[in-house]
Amino acid sequence: MKQNQKINQPFHSKYRPHNLNTVLGQDHIISYFKVALINKRLNFAYLFFGKHGVGKTTMSRIIAKSLNCSSPNKLRSYEPCNRCINCININKGKAFDLYEINAAMNTGIDNIRELIEKIQLSPVNNAFKVCILDEVHMLSPNAFNALLKILEEPPKNVIFMLITTDVKRVPNTIISRCHKLCFLPITKKDLAISINNIIFFEKGNITNNAIQHIINTSEGSFRDAINIVDMLMTKNKNITQTYCSFLLTETSYSLSYLFLKYLISKDIRKIMQIYNYFEEKTWLVSSLIKQMKIILQDIINNKTNLFLTDSYLVHLWQLLIKYDISFSCEEILSLFISDLILLFSKTNFLLTSDINLKKKKIPTMLKMSVVYIYQC
Ligand SMILES: [Zn+2]
Repeated sequence: MKQNQKINQPFHSKYRPHNLNTVLGQDHIISYFKVALINKRLNFAYLFFGKHGVGKTTMSRIIAKSLNCSSPNKLRSYEPCNRCINCININKGKAFDLYEINAAMNTGIDNIRELIEKIQLSPVNNAFKVCILDEVHMLSPNAFNALLKILEEPPKNVIFMLITTDVKRVPNTIISRCHKLCFLPITKKDLAISINNIIFFEKGNITNNAIQHIINTSEGSFRDAINIVDMLMTKNKNITQTYCSFLLTETSYSLSYLFLKYLISKDIRKIMQIYNYFEEKTWLVSSLIKQMKIILQDIINNKTNLFLTDSYLVHLWQLLIKYDISFSCEEILSLFISDLILLFSKTNFLLTSDINLKKKKIPTMLKMSVVYIYQC
């Protein structure tokens, strides 16, 4: 890298909240911790759950700072000062008494054993040791058992913050020992205010339509929203709807390939999973269909991995061409699925019997699509 090149701090780090009152959209959790911190009545284990990018890890770090802040003014305040050595070390990720483990990458029992060994000793500089276990649902069964043992007899002055985007995968035995706090998706209004603030600080401009587009794409995730703003502003500080649409309307190749694979193998359950994913992202449907058409064309031309009759693939390709139209049509995917059912039944594949003889098995969403086409 040339010496005069510098890497800008990413927005999600630059605009990360550093105290409770600036965490977005989680007022119910903030008010809970304000009381708990002032009265020094914290539980030894918390489970933070909710979708990604809504402030779970950020909140954990702020609480770790607040518990260990050494500012003389701290006594009656729930907020960390962000200036004392303890706060600074946590902000820099260099605190001895804060353990952050990403369970998605450290799934094994050895990782948990190592953590348990470390927390047996008294805190080095601080009043509390705080263990943040991100994506805790990814732990192996043995690692969960080890974690359960330490939660049954927790060492003094240790607080566990278990974080998950998929609470159903966390064993009940673990959940029952934690105070559970549900993080909500960020409201459109809060996201709009944040995006406007960031654009103002970065001396840029943005249209209302572009803000709406970013909000729809980020689906309640603050991190996704500011990452999109970061990406858009890298090239142009004036963000318009057109520029925004241009950058955000591409579906990944791998997802298109996967969808096509399910269409070819007629795996209705998987087809519906992807259908549900795209249902809320209608602006991506056009690029999805375009990409599938190109991939399928390549398969037909190269005759690679053909395990079905050519005529079925050609019919499928013709169907895709039919729907290769402007992305302004929000019903494309729904209509496409309806036509797909007809194609399946016409081409005498196993779905013929499924659809005609076992109607109860057709997923509800699929039925709605069929109903839709007849209502038009
Ligand atoms: Zn401090």
